[in-house]
Amino acid sequence: MSARAALAVMAGKLTTMILKLMGSGGTSLPGKVVLKLCPDILGRLAKDMKIICVTGTNGKTTTCHVIRDMIEAEGKTVFCNDAGANLLGGVVSAFVSASTLGGRVKTDYALLECDEAALKSIVEHFGELDVTAVVTNVFRDQLDRYGEVLTTVNKIRAGLEQLPNVKLVLNADCSLTTSLNDLPNSGIYYFGMNAPLYEGTSSDISDAVYCIHCKAKYRYRYHTFGHLGGFYCEQCGYQRQEPDVALTKVLEWKDGSEVVEMNVFGKPVKAEVMLPGGYNLYNALAAVTIAHLTGLNEDSIVTVLGGLTTHFGRMEQVQLGDSSLNLVLVKNPAGFNEVLQFLIQQKPTGNIVFGLNDNYADGKDISWIYDVEFERLTGAAAGAKGYYFTGKRAFDMQLRLKYADFDTDKFHVEKDYKALITRLKQEGEQTFLVLSYTCMLEFRDKLSEFVPLKKYAREQ
Ligand SMILES: [Zn+2]
Repeated sequence: MSARAALAVMAGKLTTMILKLMGSGGTSLPGKVVLKLCPDILGRLAKDMKIICVTGTNGKTTTCHVIRDMIEAEGKTVFCNDAGANLLGGVVSAFVSASTLGGRVKTDYALLECDEAALKSIVEHFGELDVTAVVTNVFRDQLDRYGEVLTTVNKIRAGLEQLPNVKLVLNADCSLTTSLNDLPNSGIYYFGMNAPLYEGTSSDISDAVYCIHCKAKYRYRYHTFGHLGGFYCEQCGYQRQEPDVALTKVLEWKDGSEVVEMNVFGKPVKAEVMLPGGYNLYNALAAVTIAHLTGLNEDSIVTVLGGLTTHFGRMEQVQLGDSSLNLVLVKNPAGFNEVLQFLIQQKPTGNIVFGLNDNYADGKDISWIYDVEFERLTGAAAGAKGYYFTGKRAFDMQLRLKYADFDTDKFHVEKDYKALITRLKQEGEQTFLVLSYTCMLEFRDKLSEFVPLKKYAREQ
């Protein structure tokens, strides 16, 4: 390694140390410092490594989390960038942390959560290296409400084009994701669901109505979520590909997990997936595909799926006195609809808290909540004790649920997190809290004054 690169690594490590001493959780700053000193550092540190990149709109963090457990179950070592630190700076920071002062990274794998728009700036340093890229799905995000999902697809495409030898792991049920299968590659593997998850899954909300190749309207054999499912185009023949890892049946829905039947590269596998909500099954399938490709056997895959624990925003359970809180993060209509589907199955009898902010990270324009199908939840949540609204836009959320015909006698607006937590604690109920990004951060901050919580890296 050149003196310049070595100096950059040292500067990065020093910055990390100083940030730690200051008690700051900033994770992208060291990377930025390193890049200033040595712009091509990533290619140097990644040399000889096996790299797994995970991108897509929803499920990146959970998918990385499951993949990490899978790799470690093989007895291999892996480092990841912190959840949310998924731009170039965050990825470089992770490499620097994992590297020796001499610039050697000693883990077997680099597992990188990559923001869709930042993918190109990250992977262009990897060129001919051994890279496997997972694309979880493409949905409209709340921030680009008036943008085009095709823009997102094209950003991912621009990134993957930098990798002539990439192995692609694509969501077979997502017509947008599958369209990346014409890129140069050294293997394409698909994951998907061979059947609808729920009876009567809504197909009203679609981010991809028309064929990406010929603009004819897609037809579907079945839907799973949003535009995901058994799509095909009658006009040009573009259609869902047969998955290598498929969910064939959900045998049992449990509280916080599902017992499922899968087909893993031709082998039937039965497993309990310790992740709440059907939407997480896609993340599990993506991770199983990677696990198989890296050589993990089916028995070990089943063991890992049965031993998963959830983390920040992806349904975190917190005991608060006699109350049990379930915190879940919502970022966009598709993700919110998935969470609603989960709630529909839970038939809540305790409280439900809806928290909405309109800071940049939540989306300044909150009208996206009108794309969320709250009407589907009205009946299933009718037995709930109360509906609470919090966050800067609590009243907008309350209005949205009023339109969805929720019982307004049970409505309570409480913008003061401390007062809200005190109240929830007194109630002693099972409570679901569905919170937008910054609302989740603020709420957890306050909640940590009541109960010890896990610390998670802050980002953005
Ligand atoms: Zn077509």
